[in-house]
Amino acid sequence: MEKIVSFAKRKGFIFQSSSIYGGLQGFYDYGPLGSQMKKNIRDSWWNFMINTRPDVVSVDSSIILNPKVWEASGHLKSFTDPLTECKSCHKRFRADHLTEFKCPECRGDLMDVRNFNLMLKTFIGPVEDSTSVAYLRPETAQAIFINFKNVLDTQRLKIPFGIAQIGKAFRNEITPGNFVFRTREFEQMEMEFFVRPGEEKEWFEYWISERMRWYTDILGIKKENLRVKKIEKQELAHYAIDCVDIEYNFPSLGFAEIEGVASRGDYDLKQHEKYSGEDLKYFDETLKEKYIPYVIEPSCGVDRVMLALICEAYNEFPKGRNFNSNNVETLLKLKPIMAPVKVAILPLVRNNQDIVLKAKQVFDLLSPCFVAEYDETGTIGKRYRRQDEIGTPFSITIDYKTLKDNTVTIRERDTMKQERVLIKDLLQCIQKQF
Ligand code: ATP
Repeated sequence: MEKIVSFAKRKGFIFQSSSIYGGLQGFYDYGPLGSQMKKNIRDSWWNFMINTRPDVVSVDSSIILNPKVWEASGHLKSFTDPLTECKSCHKRFRADHLTEFKCPECRGDLMDVRNFNLMLKTFIGPVEDSTSVAYLRPETAQAIFINFKNVLDTQRLKIPFGIAQIGKAFRNEITPGNFVFRTREFEQMEMEFFVRPGEEKEWFEYWISERMRWYTDILGIKKENLRVKKIEKQELAHYAIDCVDIEYNFPSLGFAEIEGVASRGDYDLKQHEKYSGEDLKYFDETLKEKYIPYVIEPSCGVDRVMLALICEAYNEFPKGRNFNSNNVETLLKLKPIMAPVKVAILPLVRNNQDIVLKAKQVFDLLSPCFVAEYDETGTIGKRYRRQDEIGTPFSITIDYKTLKDNTVTIRERDTMKQERVLIKDLLQCIQKQF
């Protein structure tokens, strides 16, 4: 994991937030490559969960909601972690993460455990008193439930259907750590899928297998690095009737949750009906019956998926992939759709104006369709390695032959195979790889 952290920083994927001021624990910034890759993850999820399905629509809600939402959802009362503190060094720990009841840092005695609410507080308006308290959402899901009626009244949806959204969530984690695995500000991709009561078991299984399909078939994560862990009854969250965690086998950490799939019953809509006084029932025209639908929720974190993808793709090879070499180089074997840069445009030399001009024309041709990087500095071998390191699947080289016959070479990252193609066929040729 240490290697991954330093790689992510060195190549501009992820930086410690506010680093020039010494950082801020539990917060990270995504650099040029990280922000592109994060967008790829969001786009892929959006495509898989919304665009390619006739039964799922999207919303994009505000981060701060009426505080009553959190009263109704149970977060104000129950969204807590058990907190303890060392009597000697005063470090704080999550009691459920400790294996024994001594301070893991100094072996001092620990204080009694108390429940600590994870919601981050703020105040709305100029007066900071109890009437102006508000919370940064700890999950995006509740905003979907409180918009259930709005969506139902404006769309022609028939059960079963889903409402999905991607957005930031905030949790005042007691012990943020393991890089972007546990942070205080992160991004969630959540979908609430509303079904007829009685049909929740089938849909729960369906969504577990669909979500696994996204990880393996779309993102390209190996099956053996994923695991579905059933959450035992006594460990279920206050709203859940059933739940599994989809876990990834992280280096150092081992298998850890990247997504939860929960069967939430009718808990949330019922609570919001009770607290808001609004009728949140659905009229089922087929059954001629009004009821509160049951809900299946796949909920995953963009940041944890990104970390998993980098861990999965990170490979080290002897330099030049020549096994006699002692120097190591990095190859990021991301699937092309996940790579932050899709295509590198490399003029063989930079002191030939015709080659440079041609290369710029190739950049103009490809960049509206693919994230492209133009690079003319260093030897061609060095430039290929630079692209391998950040996972760029295709590098295009413009050379002397290009000036004669309008062909360029496409080099493929994993095989290092090079093929000559006509510039006019280039776009189509790359498009075929996605
Ligand atoms: P954990 O048990 O690890 O604290 P959780 O079960 O509380 O996680 P959920 O409430 O199920 O997490 O949230 C859904 C998803 O949101 C998680 O699977 C994870 O990908 C992401 N997530 C939750 N908390 C964090 C966090 N502090 N930092 C980064 N991602 C998070």
